[in-house]
Amino acid sequence: MSDCLFCKIVEGSIPSTKVYEDEHVLAFMDIMPLTKGHTLLIPKKHHENVYEMSSEEAGQLFSVAPKIAESLKASFQPAGLNLMNNNGASAGQSVFHFHLHFIPRYDQTDGFK
Ligand code: 5GP
Ligand code: ZN
Repeated sequence: MSDCLFCKIVEGSIPSTKVYEDEHVLAFMDIMPLTKGHTLLIPKKHHENVYEMSSEEAGQLFSVAPKIAESLKASFQPAGLNLMNNNGASAGQSVFHFHLHFIPRYDQTDGFK
């Protein structure tokens, strides 16, 4: 989609710090990290939200989640990890291309509630 920020990241016309990429998905660092290592995992194909994704596409995306989690664990040694996904403005979605947040947690000191 031409006016979608994350489609532009997929195309490479907007720069990002990529941490994982395959045929179907891309993971990159969040530009305004809630905690150290905050990462976003997206399908390369534009889908606004979970309602637009097929089970197969969701499966391709979620099958990569353990790999991203392991890589964050190795890089940042967090105490825990939140996986989060917002669907719709009312649910806090601000970029309307599906994304799964990986938010490493560092006990009570990370400032994220
Ligand atoms: P949402 O609020 O839609 O669930 O999350 C959108 C996320 O995208 C936010 O955490 C925000 O910081 C991140 N974000 C917004 N614009 C950019 C950008 O240009 N580059 C990157 N890497 N992340 C972005
Ligand atoms: Zn898009």
